[in-house]
Amino acid sequence: MPTAAVVFNPTKVEREDLANVIDPAAAAAGWDESVWLETAEDDPGAGMAREAVEKGCDVVIAVGGDGTIRAVSEGLRGSGVPLALCPQGTGNLLARNLNMTLDNLAESVDAAFNGVPRKVDLGIATWSRPGGRQEEQGFVVMAGMGLDAEIMSTTDEDLKDKVGMLAYVKSGAEAIRNTHRMRLIFQFDNDRPRRAKVHTVIVGNCGSIGNNVLLLPDAAVDDGLLDVVAVRPQGLWGWVRVGWKVLVDNAILRRTDSNLVRQNRDRDRQLSYQQCRTMELTFRDPQEIELDGDHFGEVLAVRMQVEPGGLTVQMPAGWTPDPDEEPAAKETPPDSAAVQESPPVDGRGLDPAEQAAAAAEAAELNKEWD
Ligand SMILES: [Mg+2]
Repeated sequence: MPTAAVVFNPTKVEREDLANVIDPAAAAAGWDESVWLETAEDDPGAGMAREAVEKGCDVVIAVGGDGTIRAVSEGLRGSGVPLALCPQGTGNLLARNLNMTLDNLAESVDAAFNGVPRKVDLGIATWSRPGGRQEEQGFVVMAGMGLDAEIMSTTDEDLKDKVGMLAYVKSGAEAIRNTHRMRLIFQFDNDRPRRAKVHTVIVGNCGSIGNNVLLLPDAAVDDGLLDVVAVRPQGLWGWVRVGWKVLVDNAILRRTDSNLVRQNRDRDRQLSYQQCRTMELTFRDPQEIELDGDHFGEVLAVRMQVEPGGLTVQMPAGWTPDPDEEPAAKETPPDSAAVQESPPVDGRGLDPAEQAAAAAEAAELNKEWD
């Protein structure tokens, strides 16, 4: 008989409450008694997921928030053992990006036993610490460096529990007040290295950050590509424009694929988008990094990669790929000419005034870096 493992955080959810739903569902589907594995303070789920794989479990039910889902996904990496999501708490970004139920435990559990396995990509971040130590971690939604990671590290946990996304807005406003910018050299795939000075770099495996906010409008969870956005707003008005782009333009772009909006977006140098398979980042000074909302401290260099189909997720019974929602895997390498981070040398597509501004900014970037 097949067996499920249940990985759960005993400080957040009662085993008995879970068992009341999971045990009858397993029995009804003809599965063996489940293996129960509790997360610990020093291991939010990766070790438990590996243990479940070693024990030969056929599905791992992860009950928890984004941190638990990230850790369990990391533990399941490359094993082929499917992950069933039972969302808890405020974020649940993977479940949101996959359009899954967020607050119906019975439905989530049903997907574990009767659902459809679906291969999705896994993001892999390999970094060097300031002391030289190398570490590797997986992520399922987004990795952030710079301001984004600072927000994650300063957001009040209690406040986050009570007001959800508003806590991020509060600490975001605080972080914006300090005009922190990081200087870095970055390289997409086999492109040439470029230097930049930005507030935040976000590398996404999927595009939604919840509440209908689509940060990376072209991102798909199974296209074998990472979607990157570099944010470098100029002053307060710049943040307003960035907010508008993310909240309004990206929503329009996703729905209508409007060329006009896309052209405007591609010309907006406060928010630069790029798709890639790998991205190398080297920082001049140590920078905070976060993966799926969990803070991992300071790093000096990071290599971001995508492992296509590196994770299998149980979708609800009857799920089929939606041809409109799920673009087919892209065979051609991403077009690196679309990078706007370094101002184009020949000023292609810019009018003379913009061209002059771009040249001045390029000179400024170089000056500030040295
Ligand atoms: Mg992708």
